[in-house]
Amino acid sequence: MKLAILGDIHANLAAFEAVLEDVEARGGFDELWCLGDVVGYGPDPHACIQLLRGCQHICVAGNHDLAAVGSIDTSDFNREAALACEWTARQLSADDVEYLQGLPLRLERSGFTMVHGSPREPVWEYVTSVAAARDNFSHFGTDFCLVGHSHIPLVFRQSGDGRCYGQQISGETSLASGRDRLIINPGAVGQPRDGDPRASYALYDSSRHVVHHYRVSYDVTATQKRMVENELPLPLVLRLYYGC
Ligand code: ZN
Repeated sequence: MKLAILGDIHANLAAFEAVLEDVEARGGFDELWCLGDVVGYGPDPHACIQLLRGCQHICVAGNHDLAAVGSIDTSDFNREAALACEWTARQLSADDVEYLQGLPLRLERSGFTMVHGSPREPVWEYVTSVAAARDNFSHFGTDFCLVGHSHIPLVFRQSGDGRCYGQQISGETSLASGRDRLIINPGAVGQPRDGDPRASYALYDSSRHVVHHYRVSYDVTATQKRMVENELPLPLVLRLYYGC
């Protein structure tokens, strides 16, 4: 099985399309695993939901998905995120709303647990430190956990003796069973925050037990233009250029 693992699309259609093209060029996928935040920030929420739903996929809910359909409030969002969320809510069809409301907070599939934030707190917690990762390893029962939310591609490893460490994910990561347990964040498709503006995703090849991380250039200007046309907050437009 080939699995495309991605998250934080954030209504960035140009980035999402570029990632799907890249996956196709690498032989395609059997299933797409989406780690939430399909919408929010970006200019094409409806089109991104449609494109995702056209793929064989499973998806967990992100905080922006839940906020866009009123399942959580936006009081913890910064001003730009809250404004974008209100705009997003107005772009969604009744069918989009039903889809987002139906997303689970947590999924398990083939030895992986999938959540948006963390297994301990799927909606809000960021797993960006070894301390946070260490605490979270006891909150899932599978060997591997996939997370999004921070928009930073990272892998945290817990070895058999309980030691835990983290590193930026790049290239191939081995998932040989019986060794380390891992928490993997493939980075963000639609709003990278690690200083690299290219879209970020991973492919899992179950026959080789490896996750390969990729970066994909896309037409950032096209997304920015759509955001300006729709009067989305300027800081959100600019950050796509810097990838932060
Ligand atoms: Zn996000």
